[in-house]
Amino acid sequence: MERLYPRLEIKLGQIENNIRKIVGLCKNSNINITGVIKGYNGIPSVSKAFVENGCANIGSSRIEQLKAMKDIDNDIETMMIRIPMLSEVEEIVKYTDISLNSELTTVEALNDKCGKLGKTHKVILMFDVGDIREGYFDVDEIVEVAKIIETDMKHIELMGVGTNIGCYGSIKPTIKNMNRLIEVAEVIEKAIERKLEIISGGATTSVTLVKDGVMPERINHLRVGEEILLNRDLVEYWGYEFNDMYDDNFILIAEIVEMKDKPSYPVGEIFIDAFGNITEYEDIGIRKKAILGVGRQDFGDHTKLIPIDTNIQIIGSSSDHLIVDITDSKITYKIGDTISFNLYYGAMLFASNSDYVAKKIIRE
Ligand SMILES: *Cc1c(COP(=O)(O)O)cnc(C)c1O
Repeated sequence: MERLYPRLEIKLGQIENNIRKIVGLCKNSNINITGVIKGYNGIPSVSKAFVENGCANIGSSRIEQLKAMKDIDNDIETMMIRIPMLSEVEEIVKYTDISLNSELTTVEALNDKCGKLGKTHKVILMFDVGDIREGYFDVDEIVEVAKIIETDMKHIELMGVGTNIGCYGSIKPTIKNMNRLIEVAEVIEKAIERKLEIISGGATTSVTLVKDGVMPERINHLRVGEEILLNRDLVEYWGYEFNDMYDDNFILIAEIVEMKDKPSYPVGEIFIDAFGNITEYEDIGIRKKAILGVGRQDFGDHTKLIPIDTNIQIIGSSSDHLIVDITDSKITYKIGDTISFNLYYGAMLFASNSDYVAKKIIRE
């Protein structure tokens, strides 16, 4: 059965443009980019565009997506960007060239597995500058681990250090925390008596420092997903402007299955919704409402959808239904028509992952 709707349209030509723009911007500051593919389930034909348009390699938090990449082209360099699980070291060694690490036990296991499989693997040690997600917090400890890797591990190459910011702890990248990472890198360099190849200064949010022209010189690598894929967070939350970049690369299209004039306020005794939540309802009288054949299982949270028809309001959703108010729309919708949405990161993630959403790649 070929599914028509819901459908996720992915505008590959526009994504390619965005890749070139960000790679170009960062190249001017001698920064290489890992294209991060986890936001759209790592669809390989889209991921290929990252390396074809100037990214050094591709990165994901999911080994399956990196394996799929190697399956279509074994020469594409892959980076595991979530700290590997001990239970997946074999796959890490087989399907990735580089991984971000913060546990000696795991790096030792990677080294052992490499020995058994006749492979080598590169690691970037993560240092936590304050976002309190992954990474060493103690400088002595990361230096010690770096020395052990450098001197005792035959199959592991210590490629450099990296940090992650703005993900859990909501910490902003600053000249100060970037310099802290560089300081740590330089302590390691002193201990192992050579230069590190990579100092990886973070993800999309760190692009702000490059854009401002203030990124400290020794930061030479970033891992970027959102800014290339959606170009939304830095524009909407951070107030940056990126000329000639697209922000409508992922469009979710859903079909109208019911259209009726209905009250805006539920009738009867209000209790909890399908997910056990207490919802507030505002009484704005009778409205023309449409139900679309798409639900939370396909987009997660309806507040992460942006109707392209700006006169439509999203009212609510359940697992398989999305309710929209079309009273003020200039378009006369009918049953079987579709309504399209631009997406925030969370909705892109869900829609790309849902087996119930058809995917269509548009190359223009
Ligand atoms: C997801 C992730 C990235 C990319 O984040 P974006 O905000 O999409 O650029 C980079 N590094 C790590 C470790 C990540 O988990």
